[in-house]
Amino acid sequence: MNNKNDIRVRFAPSPTGDPHLGAMRTALFNWAFAKKNNGVFILRIEDTDKKRQVPGSVENIIEGMKWLGLNYDEGPEIGGDYGPYVQSERNEIYTEVVNKLLDEDKAYMCDLTSEELSKMKELQISEGKAPGYNGHSRNRSREELEQSKKDGKPVVVRLKVPIAGQIEFEDVKRGIMKFDLSKIDDFVILKADGLPTYHLANVIDDSAMKISHVLRGEEWISSTPKHLLIYQFLNLNPPNYV
Ligand code: GLU
Repeated sequence: MNNKNDIRVRFAPSPTGDPHLGAMRTALFNWAFAKKNNGVFILRIEDTDKKRQVPGSVENIIEGMKWLGLNYDEGPEIGGDYGPYVQSERNEIYTEVVNKLLDEDKAYMCDLTSEELSKMKELQISEGKAPGYNGHSRNRSREELEQSKKDGKPVVVRLKVPIAGQIEFEDVKRGIMKFDLSKIDDFVILKADGLPTYHLANVIDDSAMKISHVLRGEEWISSTPKHLLIYQFLNLNPPNYV
């Protein structure tokens, strides 16, 4: 029987192409960690970026894992207690969380188009500033933005990142990592197409699937403070990061 201290790890590829060696290496480490600790190894398909999805990629990932003998205990096709294990089938869960964050004023809508965002960044660069979202809609009313959405503008939802302060966590391998919140934009959690971004879906699912350890490539270190903020805002306990 599982209890909440059990080791549960996941491999969470995005089906944006054929599985490459780096991805399978991550899968292998997760699999080995689960095996060594009598834990559970999960496959979760992170397919919320429909623009980047490559047809056949999910099948190739599953086939590749089978070929390598990286058998998983929960995942697409085989199921498990915390499914579905394909993010595009979990949209209701994400929408509910986004609404909760909006109701609690921890997130807000923004209706800037991609052209307007590009202009904002060009201007910032020309002024010698670091390019980023400048909080344009942070203090606008929800009603105004709901109306903008009805009028057909591409409305996204952004997390209200605290203006100042630090966030830190202890990476199991690297030790204490510290990040300045002032350097983190109010990042998008729900896109204009109604699908969550990687950051939001990843956190909600790691929590819902009771993941104990997140073992992933170092390119995700800079995303971890964003994930921790979402955990904080939702009063959830984060997993261990490796
Ligand atoms: N979907 C992400 C990827 O393709 C997962 C990153 C993570 O493990 O959190 O790499």
